Amino acid sequence: MANIDWSKLTFSYTKTNTILKTTFVDGAWTPVESLTDDYLHLSAYAGALHYAIECFEGLKAFRAKDGSVRLFRPEENAKRLQRSAQYLGIEAPSTEMFIEMCKRCVRENIEFLPPYEATGASLYLRPTLIGSNPQLGVQSSKESTFMILCSPVGAYVGGALDAVDVVIARNYDRAAPNGSGSYKVGGNYACSLRSLNIAHEQGYKAVLYLDPSTKTKIDEFNSSNFFGIKGNKYVTPKSESILPSITNASLEIVAAHLGMEVERREVPVEELSTFEEVGECGTAVVITPVHKLVDKPFLESDEETVYTYGDGKCGPKSLKLYNFITGLQKGEIEDPFGWIDIVEL
Ligand SMILES: *Cc1c(COP(=O)(O)O)cnc(C)c1O
Repeated sequence: MANIDWSKLTFSYTKTNTILKTTFVDGAWTPVESLTDDYLHLSAYAGALHYAIECFEGLKAFRAKDGSVRLFRPEENAKRLQRSAQYLGIEAPSTEMFIEMCKRCVRENIEFLPPYEATGASLYLRPTLIGSNPQLGVQSSKESTFMILCSPVGAYVGGALDAVDVVIARNYDRAAPNGSGSYKVGGNYACSLRSLNIAHEQGYKAVLYLDPSTKTKIDEFNSSNFFGIKGNKYVTPKSESILPSITNASLEIVAAHLGMEVERREVPVEELSTFEEVGECGTAVVITPVHKLVDKPFLESDEETVYTYGDGKCGPKSLKLYNFITGLQKGEIEDPFGWIDIVEL
């Protein structure tokens, strides 16, 4: 076991034993290497560094109650990476290769996998695909390098299920109407940083973006999807510029399984006042409940409309959904959906 205080982990980087790396050159992937050095030997002219030819994934490995090691829906991450790579015009690993490399990465770094008892902790896997050949011309990279990195992590902000305050950025967008918003490319994050930094300075944990073409409907947060709950309904926005969150798709299925009504449709801003619970969802924490949601005519203004949900703790319906997903991941609940992929050690 690594010498780690599992209860103190945050969502930050801890050096592990190895990272895995392979490069697509001349029509084939080179044999997968395990590197103990996490500093890359990369051309300074690599397309990733100049033209943001980069996409990534995030998924977690868990130590379950029965001692097994589990991945949650890794084939969904493999398919999403392939979709992002296709958008960028670069080669991506097959689903089988992606999952096999995820499993090998877990095996080689097994002492960094938090024990079952460490609530909220897991081994976070970061598959990363970059255009790596030297280039100056603007074009999709011919050579792509695929890596899997990993780090033990705890709750993303504060503790899991601590409610946060968030702000709508009306005068900023993270995505364009027919742009790259629905692909998991690093460039989208670069585009969200300016508004996120301003929001952070004002004490908000996240930024909520509206649909970039009409600015009348809810899109998503800077790094997580939006959901609202009213009565027995789970409501989440439908939009071309939203990143298709695997957590959100899973919550929709779990909500229906638990007898809730699920609506994926356009969510007008006016509807914010009608929700009883609102949350962010994503792999990092599954659900982050939103306490105060602040709408301003522009981010830098003092004028504001405040929507308040609950009392600063996670609402009962969100908690039920959270417990189901984390129960599946930790092997406390039988998996009715076939979402769990066991890592043979
Ligand atoms: C990765 C990501 C999410 C969450 O997706 P999950 O598959 O649930 O982790 C949401 N929004 C954006 C912009 C993302 O990049």
